[in-house]
Amino acid sequence: MKKIHTHIPGFPRIGAQRELKTALERHWRGESTAEELAEVGRTLRSRHWAAQRDAGLDFVTVGDFAFYDHVANHIQLFGCEPARFHFRDEPALARYFTLARGRSGGERCGCGQEGAALEMTKWFDTNYHYLVPELDADTRFALASTRLFDEVAEAQALGHAVKATLIGPLTFLWLAKATDGSCRLDLLDRLLPVYGEVLARLKEQGVAWVQIEEPILGLDLPQAWRSAFETAYWQLNQAGAQLLLATYFSPLEENLSLACRLPVAGLHVDGVRAAHELVSVADWLPVHKVLSAGVVDGRNIWRTDLDAVLATLAPVLDKRGGRLWLSTSCSLLHVPYSLAAETALDAEVESWLAFAHEKLAELALLKTAIEAPGSAAPALAATRAALASRRASPRVRDAAVRARLAALPADAAQRKSPFAERRLLQGAMLNLPPFPTTTIGSFPQTPDIRAARAAFRRGALDSAAYEAAMRAEIAQAIRRQEALGLDVLVHGEAERNDMVEYFGEHLAGFAFTRHGWVQSYGSRCVKPPVIWGDVSRPAPITVDWARYAQGLTEKPVKGMLTGPVTILQWSFVRDDQPRLDTADQIALAMRDEVDDLQRAGIAIVQIDEPALREGLPLRQSRQAGYLDRAVRAFRLTAAVARDATQVHTHMCYAEFNDILPQIAALDADVITIETSRSAMALLDGFGDFRYPNDIGPGVYDIHSPRVPGREDMLALLRRARAVIPAEQLWVNPDCGLKTRGWDETESALRNMVAAAHQMRREANSRKPLEAA
Ligand code: GLN
Ligand code: ZN
Repeated sequence: MKKIHTHIPGFPRIGAQRELKTALERHWRGESTAEELAEVGRTLRSRHWAAQRDAGLDFVTVGDFAFYDHVANHIQLFGCEPARFHFRDEPALARYFTLARGRSGGERCGCGQEGAALEMTKWFDTNYHYLVPELDADTRFALASTRLFDEVAEAQALGHAVKATLIGPLTFLWLAKATDGSCRLDLLDRLLPVYGEVLARLKEQGVAWVQIEEPILGLDLPQAWRSAFETAYWQLNQAGAQLLLATYFSPLEENLSLACRLPVAGLHVDGVRAAHELVSVADWLPVHKVLSAGVVDGRNIWRTDLDAVLATLAPVLDKRGGRLWLSTSCSLLHVPYSLAAETALDAEVESWLAFAHEKLAELALLKTAIEAPGSAAPALAATRAALASRRASPRVRDAAVRARLAALPADAAQRKSPFAERRLLQGAMLNLPPFPTTTIGSFPQTPDIRAARAAFRRGALDSAAYEAAMRAEIAQAIRRQEALGLDVLVHGEAERNDMVEYFGEHLAGFAFTRHGWVQSYGSRCVKPPVIWGDVSRPAPITVDWARYAQGLTEKPVKGMLTGPVTILQWSFVRDDQPRLDTADQIALAMRDEVDDLQRAGIAIVQIDEPALREGLPLRQSRQAGYLDRAVRAFRLTAAVARDATQVHTHMCYAEFNDILPQIAALDADVITIETSRSAMALLDGFGDFRYPNDIGPGVYDIHSPRVPGREDMLALLRRARAVIPAEQLWVNPDCGLKTRGWDETESALRNMVAAAHQMRREANSRKPLEAA
């Protein structure tokens, strides 16, 4: 007799209509009480548990909900809020929001001052950002929050069978940072007793299973961390709770036998990204333990090929005596709620998709297909038909795109001349001063701009009127930049809602959802486009805007594009071909845009790649392969530029020092990067590496409302000047300015231009000395 259990590692928390976002922002504005916010939390949890129960899952998952971030919940659970958050006697929820947002009320700022928010960073290779726990050698842990236990009681009161979830101790420490440079692993002995208490308490509450998440088992771990798993889990096992050790996002590889051996009652593995390991896990994992196979993709939105999954599972079921748990590969946090809300999606494309709710139904169907194959047959046939239509659809494959890619000449990704020659030509053309000043692309997206766009979208403004409104914005942005004395101007991106969505909307092969929101951090959500087919560019996208802007000024105006890797990285990407094949198609489309811009008389084209590093695979062994292809996709876009056309690129979020050779290999004439928050620490890497082309290290942090003074920026520029030759240096903010207001933007840029002028004076007065 085959016996299948179903569950999920976690469910999205923001609400199908982003109710949590609305409630949080109201609360932060002081328009609702903590109790009112708590009520929204309860409503959402009960709804999400009901969805799990209604889909026939054997347990609902408790502990995946968070008002801001689940890692922050653990910081409070373990009582390790950094000392700077203790100085006022605030209630736990208020302290929680201070951890997340800092004390100045609203704006996050990473300045490291008292009351500054915790740093935020990406959750593995997802677009979700967690708050980084700050620990040091003196950190003590103590069970300090009842939130998890309260939520368990809440679910039980609603009649649910509960599986609680916790981040495991090793992953928690791995994700933290030691502010004093001490070894985080040394804190394990102090942390484990608190886990013991948590587990004992959950057991007392009658929780049948505790999922304990250790996704770092899919990383290349130092030996000390691997060994620590054995001692830690031996100790956790003493609490007597049934533990389901959960891994995801990456194959276990050399940690496979370790994971199978740990003294826990069950193991969850990612059956999508590590599908090839399922049979080995089934072999290695002792039969008395539960195997949870995450066969439905929690990271993407395509309908599951249920036949293929059933075929993969057949040998696994044999080995497990017909007993198995089925699940999504990871928490559904990373996908939107439900297709039911999509009223305007292309019907054919929609039939190929599955969001969180549809994935729950897929699990239910898989369970039936194994336990009672006959009754699942009609539903399986429907899935089969949808998948067949996707495979056979003439819309998915574009013969012209494929032919063009196949016929690309060997040097298609290669600029004609080396940088040294291009630089001379560009210098003669552009005639820029030393330390040229520029900005990253966007200017404030004012309420007027957003109102005009909203009116245009609902049909209240016709396209001529909308275009006129955007042209007026561009014209005033150009006037302001001229008045400030900037050297290289931008048109300001008023016409763009979002740097990826805007291009996606103008490319073939993309679909857009109405409500496909996914949490990025806190109350912030993104709505990634869906790339379902071959990508091509039906018509030029930015050329008219760029030509218009350039016509208003004698100064060069940069053409502004989003690079192929970033478009890929911030979308849901088709899974029927290698991801980077899709990047090549986007690259080809954007290459044509670069060419059209230069033909229209645009002398500088910027191709933004802020997400280049985000696609880096979690396992080192795959990183070089990814970087090769990513760099090539960028170069394919850029290499159509003539020698005299200056190519810029822009990246944010630091941490480049380990990929500097690849950044240099992009061969952009100028790169602008974010460095101000790390006080230029990043630049040391560029200096040591002797980065060959021009660099604009961001001299002010656009994420903070503080207007930096001329002296602040001068100090940063002098630091930059110490490691990078002066003739390579540009002066710019560290990212686009669309979230700022005009007043602060103009004040900051005025100071920035003044700082550049001072640098020029210092260079001039030094010259005679150096010559002497
Ligand atoms: N050109 C874009 C802007 O200025 C770049 C944004 C980004 O790097 N995230 O908004
Ligand atoms: Zn940026």
